[in-house]
Amino acid sequence: MVPALEIRDPRPESRDDPFVAERRSMVETHLAARGIRDARVLAAMRTVPRHRFVPEAERARAYSDAALPIGFGQTISQPYVVARSLEALALGGTERVLEVGTGCGYQAAVLAELAAEVFTVEIVPELAAIAVATLGALCYRNVHVRVGDGGEGWPDRAPFDAIVVAAAAPEVPRSWLRQLSRGGRMVAPVGDAKQTLLLLQKPGAGEVVRQPLLPVRFVPLRGRFGRVAAPPDA
Ligand code: SAH
Repeated sequence: MVPALEIRDPRPESRDDPFVAERRSMVETHLAARGIRDARVLAAMRTVPRHRFVPEAERARAYSDAALPIGFGQTISQPYVVARSLEALALGGTERVLEVGTGCGYQAAVLAELAAEVFTVEIVPELAAIAVATLGALCYRNVHVRVGDGGEGWPDRAPFDAIVVAAAAPEVPRSWLRQLSRGGRMVAPVGDAKQTLLLLQKPGAGEVVRQPLLPVRFVPLRGRFGRVAAPPDA
C-alpha cells in the first residue's frame, strides 16, 4: 500500500448552498420517517452536502434516496443505507473509525461529523484522488485517505473502535475483526447476488456476535478478499 494521501489546502465552503431545503427534506422523508432515530446521524446528514460528492450530471438527483454512479463502475451509497450503517455503529464522537471503500468520500464526510478520526481505504486511485479533493475543499481535516486493498484493513492505524464497509465481501476477512477494538462495532455487507448488511460486535477478545440488519445491494469488494480482481494500477 502507498502512504496516506494528504488532504491539502482546505478552502472554506461558500455559504450559499442551494440544496439546504432538499437536504432537510431528504433527512425527514427518507431517513427520520423511515425509522432512523440517532439525532447525531440525522444532524450529520443534514450538514454534509451530498451534491458536492456526485458528478455534475447527477447533482439534480443528489438528494433522492438512491445510489448514483460516480464513475469507474462504482456508486455513491443510498442515503438510507448510509444512515442505517452509521446508526448501527452507535458513535459518540471520540472514536477512530475505519471505512473500507471511500468511493467519492461522502460517507467518510458523514463519519467525520460523527467520530474523532476517520481512516478510509479505496482501491481505485482516481476515486481516492477525487475524494481527497472534495474532502479538502470542504475542510475535513480528520479524514485520512489511502489507496490500497481495504480487505486488509489499515494495520498501521489499528485498532479501530468501529469499522464500516461499503463493498460486499463473500465473508468478513479476519483482518477486519483483528483490527476491531474490544467492545467495537462493525457494519459490513456480506454475500454475492443476495447480500445482507451485518452488524458484528466484539464484546471480548475472540468473541464475535453477528446480527443481520437488512438486505442490501452493494458493489462487490475487489482485491484479495473479494470475488472481483483489483484494478491493475491499485
Ligand atoms: N463510501 C462510498 C461508497 C462507495 S462504493 C460512499 O460514500 O458512497 C464502494 C467503493 O468500494 C468503490 O469506490 C470501490 O472502488 C471500493 N472498493 C471495492 N473493493 C475495495 C477494496 N478491496 N478496498 C478498498 N476499496 C474497495
